[in-house]
Amino acid sequence: MANPEDLEIVSSPLAIVIDELHSKYKSLQAGVVANYIPELAKVNPDLFSICIVTVDGQVYEVGEYKQLFTIQSISKVFAYGLALEDHGRDYVLTKVGVEPTGEAFNAIILDEQSKRPYNPMVNAGAIATTSLIKGSGATERLNRMLDMFRRYVGHDVFVDISVFTSERSTGHRNRAMAHLMLNFGMIDKNIEEALDLYFQQCAVMVNCRDLAVMAATLANKGTNPITKEQAVDSHYIKDILSVMYTCGMYNFAGEWAYKIGVPAKSGVCGGIIAVVPHQMGIGVFSPPLDARGNSVRGVKVCEELSQRLCLHLFECSGR
Ligand code: GLN
Repeated sequence: MANPEDLEIVSSPLAIVIDELHSKYKSLQAGVVANYIPELAKVNPDLFSICIVTVDGQVYEVGEYKQLFTIQSISKVFAYGLALEDHGRDYVLTKVGVEPTGEAFNAIILDEQSKRPYNPMVNAGAIATTSLIKGSGATERLNRMLDMFRRYVGHDVFVDISVFTSERSTGHRNRAMAHLMLNFGMIDKNIEEALDLYFQQCAVMVNCRDLAVMAATLANKGTNPITKEQAVDSHYIKDILSVMYTCGMYNFAGEWAYKIGVPAKSGVCGGIIAVVPHQMGIGVFSPPLDARGNSVRGVKVCEELSQRLCLHLFECSGR
């Protein structure tokens, strides 16, 4: 029998890669933390974590992966899944399109012809999506939303009340989008309730590991690879991943698809999720953002992870 002292501790290649990327990009000082509400502006810009969860449930993490933050726009992916489950693909398509905008995430625009918001990954489309969530009242809708997040992360989640209330009191752009959509009959007349639910979903607290587990759940046909619970009907995974691929990184979506080549979504919190179908979910958290609202370190990490692990969907054979 081998003497335990002679045994070498062998780290997994994934653990080595994320450790290297964390050391490499930790000193990168670029970007600006979101400051449209004071609660987000207070965050420490040096926080930086990377987590990978494989579809067979292995977890690799580095940095402050337990640090909580509000999920912001990354929530749009999951709310879209719930709306699809509630109404089916055909109905949801009558209310929210699937075209990239080429505009900022908070642009006040609708499709000229159909009057639909362009896609569910930008604010207008996400507000329309959220207005579709079923429930007998605001509380039931919120509870259904929170329960949906619980299935994806594998534990209860909470709304950060101060982020929610300041989003609500300053969210005039989002309110303008809701009024525009109401004017064209794209959302129900109870827009304040839809906006509240949208602000609440953005203020759900997660950490970097949660992001990776959520991404891995999408990579694993909707089943959480840790708890084995079905978080979303597998029937809708292709819809969710398709809009993430074409629209998830806002007006950087084309370049992201070209260079990194996997479905992804970012949020102004500085989080990014990336989904490698049938393989793994990636979560990165680093608050400083570039001009398009994507995490600077997050984009760099995903770019290099994609190259080093050959993750681009159209590059590697055998998938
Ligand atoms: N709560 C933010 C908003 O509605 C979310 C935007 C984002 O993360 N890009 O403006």
